[in-house]
Amino acid sequence: AKQTGGNCSMIFTQSIQEQIERRKLIQQSLLQAVEDEQFELYYQPKVGGISRRVCGYEALVRWNHPSLGMLSPVEFIPIAEDNGAILPLGDWIFENACLYAKNLNDIGLIDLPVAINISAIQLSDPGWLDRLLLILDKTQLPTHLIELELTESQLLTDIENSTDTINYIRSLGIKVALDDFGTGYSSLSYLRNLPLDTLKIDRSFVSHLQEGHENYDLAIIKAVTTLAKQLGMALVAEGVEQSTQEKILTDIGCDQLQGYLYSKPIPAEEFLELCLKSLAT
Ligand code: C2E
Ligand code: CA
Ligand code: CA
Ligand code: CA
Repeated sequence: AKQTGGNCSMIFTQSIQEQIERRKLIQQSLLQAVEDEQFELYYQPKVGGISRRVCGYEALVRWNHPSLGMLSPVEFIPIAEDNGAILPLGDWIFENACLYAKNLNDIGLIDLPVAINISAIQLSDPGWLDRLLLILDKTQLPTHLIELELTESQLLTDIENSTDTINYIRSLGIKVALDDFGTGYSSLSYLRNLPLDTLKIDRSFVSHLQEGHENYDLAIIKAVTTLAKQLGMALVAEGVEQSTQEKILTDIGCDQLQGYLYSKPIPAEEFLELCLKSLAT
């Protein structure tokens, strides 16, 4: 049955009101939530393009909110960026991802780098690098096991400053990846100048790949692969869900694959089991 216009607009009004309330609640509880450690890191494997074995992994944050339940970073990270909570939260994420990686390394799962997402707000915070050094010192994780994932738009906002920061980070032995590549500005010319280790092709390109269908996305991925190789960068494809996509990406020469085909992001203990299984075979 069709709703009357009056009802519709009331439902609409309520839901906007609810959204505002929800956002307010999230905003107000963020800082305390960092204090209370209500966050949890999930981990998603990256597999070798040829070996199909786990060759690294990405840390992805989740929030066990006391009244709202499990929250997605898509919802709360932008709010945390708005109100500054991303700084303590980002430090917590960095420290805990490093501790986890240190632990994996210590129990013999060596040479599996952890990829950590860094927000633009963190990158431009004057105190961030000092806190990063403190955490490195505290966790004692070898720096070559860390990769920071940055996005295009955040690097291009202040290209000079970004280049300096990346150079410094890399001088510590930490690797730097460009996340969501292809979704931002057309930054091919910047790529030459930005000192990056890895390009991550955005999921939107991968999701359109189909065998036997020559399409723009395939052309773009091929071109990006060639470019990455020539610039000496590793190439990761994200959002791999189907084996046809896997096949195409492997044929093209993509170094690493990530996506639901291998595993969704999973809690720490589950990920450890997955690693042990992958490396035992
Ligand atoms: P992202 O960095 O691009 O992370 C990849 C997102 O794609 C993750 O969503 C992951 O669960 C999802 N994904 C992975 N494989 C597949 C697949 O095969 N199919 C589909 N449909 N999705 C896939 P998630 O965990 O919800 O994170 C969303 C975004 O939130 C991240 O995008 C990142 O921008 C942000 N984020 C997550 N964790 C952190 C963090 O610790 N710090 C910061 N600053 N941002 C984070
Ligand atoms: Ca990422
Ligand atoms: Ca991404
Ligand atoms: Ca993204």
